[in-house]
Amino acid sequence: MSSSSDNFVVPGTELGVEEEYISGSGTYCDDEGRIRASVVGRARYDSSSRGVSVIPVKKLLYPKQGSNVLGIVTNVHRDLVVVDMYAEVRLQPRFSIIGEYESTFTAGIPLSQVSEDYVKDIHDYFRIGDVIVARVISVGAPLTLSTRGALYGVLYSQCSVCGHLMLPVNPRSVKCTYCGHVEKRKVSAIALPKPPSVKLKKLLLRTLS
Ligand SMILES: [Zn+2]
Repeated sequence: MSSSSDNFVVPGTELGVEEEYISGSGTYCDDEGRIRASVVGRARYDSSSRGVSVIPVKKLLYPKQGSNVLGIVTNVHRDLVVVDMYAEVRLQPRFSIIGEYESTFTAGIPLSQVSEDYVKDIHDYFRIGDVIVARVISVGAPLTLSTRGALYGVLYSQCSVCGHLMLPVNPRSVKCTYCGHVEKRKVSAIALPKPPSVKLKKLLLRTLS
């Protein structure tokens, strides 16, 4: 794992296996011996004790309009992506978590807000289990998010073939770190392993202004 967003985890994120690490606070071990995060926070690995724990972040009450949020895709309909929101995040100048919501809020990304491009098949953009960053555009009922703009989209995914971590390899795809399987996604620019190209930088500046 290489980008600055990698240490931030949400409940369920795989942190390692029992043979390698000892499950510490803020983590649990699943039936298959994988250690996973149980809270939103920053993963910490201790090489001397071989322990892994998650340092939790402060608690926030409600999502605010314009906030950037961290969430997990729980369902994908033909014209709507359903997201459980866990935390408010800062994207610039570096990705960081401002705070975790005291309860999980469910929000939707309507088809028109998925991308600035024409979206033919929503499944080429998001799938269940994706950990994403999005922006709150309405706090009314229903809570509405947008992932238009290069900064927004997938940080990491779970492989549909083997269940391991998938990391972004370019703005439109993620690749499994275990079996090499590649799937289409809308990837957040902050999750990409390489610094953004000049073209992407221009796009980012336009998104921010
Ligand atoms: Zn895989």
